[in-house]
Amino acid sequence: MADLAREFAELLGAKGWLSGDGAAPYSRDWLNRYGIAPIGVARPADTAEVSAVLQLCHRHGIIVVPQGGNTGLCGASVVAAGAGVILSLSRMAAIAAPDRASASVCVGAGAVLEALHQALEPQGLIFPLHLGAEGSATIGGLIGTNAGGSHAARYGMMQDLVLGLEVVLADGTIWNGLRAVQKDNAGYQLRKLFCGAEGTLGIVTRAILRLYPAPKQRQTALLALPDMEAAVAFGTHIRAEAADFLNGLEFFSDFGLGLTMRHLAGLGFPLETRGGAYVLVELTSSSDLVPLADVLGATLEWGMEQGLVLDGALAMSEAQRSHFWRLREEQPEGQRLEGPQLKHDISVPPGRIAEFIHDADRLCQTLLPGVRINPFGHLADGNIHFNLSPPEDATGFDGRGGDLAQGLAGLATAMGGSFAAEHGLGRAKTALADTHRSPVERGLMARIKQAFDPDAYLNPGVIITTITPDQTKE
Ligand code: FAD
Repeated sequence: MADLAREFAELLGAKGWLSGDGAAPYSRDWLNRYGIAPIGVARPADTAEVSAVLQLCHRHGIIVVPQGGNTGLCGASVVAAGAGVILSLSRMAAIAAPDRASASVCVGAGAVLEALHQALEPQGLIFPLHLGAEGSATIGGLIGTNAGGSHAARYGMMQDLVLGLEVVLADGTIWNGLRAVQKDNAGYQLRKLFCGAEGTLGIVTRAILRLYPAPKQRQTALLALPDMEAAVAFGTHIRAEAADFLNGLEFFSDFGLGLTMRHLAGLGFPLETRGGAYVLVELTSSSDLVPLADVLGATLEWGMEQGLVLDGALAMSEAQRSHFWRLREEQPEGQRLEGPQLKHDISVPPGRIAEFIHDADRLCQTLLPGVRINPFGHLADGNIHFNLSPPEDATGFDGRGGDLAQGLAGLATAMGGSFAAEHGLGRAKTALADTHRSPVERGLMARIKQAFDPDAYLNPGVIITTITPDQTKE
């Protein structure tokens, strides 16, 4: 191993190779569930060096795990077994000048999402992906997980925002697919294959991303509703009336509101009436000519007339808007501070959200009476973060975590949804995929992996459980 480390150090120089204590901060995943010490951390300076690292690893049979901001929630960005190298693209974070006429920008895979937002702001352009981890998450990691976030219903997930890619394949071959066009049907959609591949098919080194004009006006409201049925009915109406302006349509529960206010300082309740469910609605437009306030006002009035909306407030300042958003975005943090939790990243067709939450609650109470459910998420695209806290007087889940995950995955699948909506499978959910995805689907995925990485050096154990480097050598 010492010889190997020396080879990496010689290849990449002092800035490009970390080992020992220097590599320690890269070894565990965000939720501290997975990870062993890697041989070291390779920090190449350019695409040619990434290619050289992969060739070296390939020659020596070393596992390669790409890591961005390490904020992924499924344990996919660390070495979990065997001799492996972490590949960090943090030195490849250049953000080129945006091409305003073509509404695109070329970005290094190591660029942090927040840095991209900041670089675009003075240009009057936006990259419309936002999530709680944007201060650390990188373009490579967001592509690796095909991240979604709060604006996916309007702008799509990462795969809809990637126009072109540059990727280094397992044997070091460089694929330059840096095309800046939306329409490119010259064969299979290779760039989309890498979106959500979680580092198992190749290393993304650069991307051309799609941009949008910055909004010139914005209307944000927080609403209290009697229950999730009302939230779904209101969501259906506002999507029909204002889909072209709908920048956010988020929901959370009264239990979640209570956790957030209990554990996070300065987060008061801005309405007069508590409800069974809360909806944050935000409309934006890149034109000053659209009567956005009228559109939102008419929709809220309709909701109140129908008895769907109990109470509501419009954000009258940026501080108020940010308060409303924090109430939604701090849901995971409020629950984390409450103690142990189980996270389930579910999606169902949007019209079935209330039905899912109702049935899932019943299922959970059967498996673990008293378990506290905290559903929150994205009303417009059906993505429910169905997170659980233990019963009031318990310190854990009584060993029922696996049964709860399997039961909820089964329910989502039966409703035409998914048990892995926007966080990926990683290592945490491969067993669920083996149970809830058909053998045909799993077989196709295994064959794709085989085609791109026949010796399984790239992030083995992630997405596909069946192949590891050792097995392929037997
Ligand atoms: P990492 O965690 O480092 O890696 C993620 C995966 O991508 C791994 O499999 C890794 O091997 C692979 N990868 C990394 N870089 C590359 C590369 N260059 N080429 C190929 N593969 C690569 N997700 C959502 O979708 N929506 C949300 O709203 C959301 N909110 C979040 C809020 C918080 C507080 C946190 C902690 C996470 C949240 N996430 C959310 C999870 C989300 O997956 C990550 O934030 C993000 O996409 C991962 O980016 P990263 O750079 O940290 O990637």
